Amino acid sequence: MQVRDLQVTFDLGRHGRLVAVDNVSFDLGRGEFVALVGESGSGKSTTALALIRLVPPPGFISSGRLLWWEDGGREPVDLLQLSPAQMRARRWRDIAIIFQGAQNALNPVMRIAEQMIETARAHHPMPRSEILERAAQCLRMVRLEPSRVLRAYPHELSGGMRQRVLIAMSLLMTPHLLILDEPTTALDVITQAHILEILGEIQEKLGLTMLLLTHDLAVVAKTARRVLIMYAGRIVEEAPTEALFETPYHPYARGLLQAVPTLRGDLTGKRPIPGVPPDLRRPPPGCRFHPRCPYADEVCRQLEPALEEVGGRRVACHHWQRVLVEASIQEPHP
Ligand code: ADP
Ligand code: MG
Repeated sequence: MQVRDLQVTFDLGRHGRLVAVDNVSFDLGRGEFVALVGESGSGKSTTALALIRLVPPPGFISSGRLLWWEDGGREPVDLLQLSPAQMRARRWRDIAIIFQGAQNALNPVMRIAEQMIETARAHHPMPRSEILERAAQCLRMVRLEPSRVLRAYPHELSGGMRQRVLIAMSLLMTPHLLILDEPTTALDVITQAHILEILGEIQEKLGLTMLLLTHDLAVVAKTARRVLIMYAGRIVEEAPTEALFETPYHPYARGLLQAVPTLRGDLTGKRPIPGVPPDLRRPPPGCRFHPRCPYADEVCRQLEPALEEVGGRRVACHHWQRVLVEASIQEPHP
């Protein structure tokens, strides 16, 4: 999928307009595992919802293209040009999404088997027996015992198991692209690691394309090959995961990395980024990160930095080169 100049606006009536996703462009290559990272409110979920055209009102996609390349196709399809019925047919079969907090949204009075059957039937008429067979396969992929889990009600399963049920459900229609919105956020560290391992396994086995949304860079280190960093509705940096962890270019990426305790091995080194993300109804002029940026100057306060391509990466910062030099003097590598 190629996302081009995607913009999502929320019309807040007399409270004005809020652009939650602003001119966002990126590619998701076949079989790639990509992470979209940013603090809460940066526009990750809205971006994901836009990719499947499920932005809730008063939000709407105000511009952009979502170019989808079919297997063996010569021309991409722009998902934004499809009729609602055509788009519906593609959800789950081409693109599946596990919504943020979905593990708590399973129907409490329905056994897992029925929920899986209902999900599958909503997208494709298939006999029960066939769905159940497929459901069992998918549950085994997430290392759950089908005979036990299919009979269970959601409350009989742990949070980690419910999340794995959702992953299994999303695989029912064998999608090409799977979007996971904060899949491990509510879970303890051990369960989190287990889920990430399973996701990696599935991705490798099925050759799925995965887009994982998270506010937690530690999650990214274990999974994604490439990272997109979002701040206040915009992509501010894109890099292969290793390169980003080795040398972040954008001061915001640098700040996020410094807030991850495991990287330096001690909790005392953990430093959250001071300040809070801007109110998107009145974003700051120039670079949106400038009020929180230790490197900001007059240029940053006035001029919006473009997202520049630099050696297979992208960065939107006027001073990324200077930041690199200064940061390497201030914090030499251990
Ligand atoms: P993230 O997933 O990164 O936490 P979101 O995509 O949920 O961020 O939110 C991005 C911005 O869009 C926020 O400023 C949020 O307030 C706004 N937003 C999201 N959903 C709605 C909505 N239904 N109505 C109004 N504003 C919204
Ligand atoms: Mg979100």
